[in-house]
Amino acid sequence: MSLEITRVLCGMIRENAYVVSVAGRRDCAVIDPGDDFPALKRAVGERQLGAILLTHGHFDHILGAGPLARETGAPVYVAAEDAEMLGDARLNGYAHLMGVHEMPGPALQPRAYGERLSVCGMTFDILRTPGHSKGSVCLYLAGEGVLFSGDTLFCAGYGRLDLHGGDAGAMLQSLKALFELPGGVKVLSGHGEATTIGEERARYRL
Ligand SMILES: [Zn+2]
Repeated sequence: MSLEITRVLCGMIRENAYVVSVAGRRDCAVIDPGDDFPALKRAVGERQLGAILLTHGHFDHILGAGPLARETGAPVYVAAEDAEMLGDARLNGYAHLMGVHEMPGPALQPRAYGERLSVCGMTFDILRTPGHSKGSVCLYLAGEGVLFSGDTLFCAGYGRLDLHGGDAGAMLQSLKALFELPGGVKVLSGHGEATTIGEERARYRL
């Protein structure tokens, strides 16, 4: 099965959103829609938006989710542990950056992930990778060898540990678990450029 993946750089923090679909299908999923609704809409194009998948609850990954969900009716998924962050500007970091305490846009009505999620002809394994936040997950398409790693694993780095729910010990365990994946797995993260599990594993002695 061949995937079509479009990266959309969102907002002043340059967060990576991804529009993902199976080639030839008329529907798609959006992962971590940040603060650029018009660009996300353009990237979705004529396809039907089937689901909005969040890797965690930080504001820079979710600001496009409300407008997209309102316009398309697509369900929004997040881990239960991060659900409280979505509407809370203090917990999700928006208040700290913007100096306001109200989240803009429509409130989200998220659904909680299970172990696996099948949408738009794709089956994502939901890997629980706490550390950057309590409910951080990585979304793994095992058959295609693609991992959407959110802010857990970056090219040459990992996510901050000093925000709400951050936990260094949990991050260590999460990175160890990710490094058990095959080295050729492509890693598409929430910020910065793409990498692979093998390239990142080689940087650490865990
Ligand atoms: Zn984050």
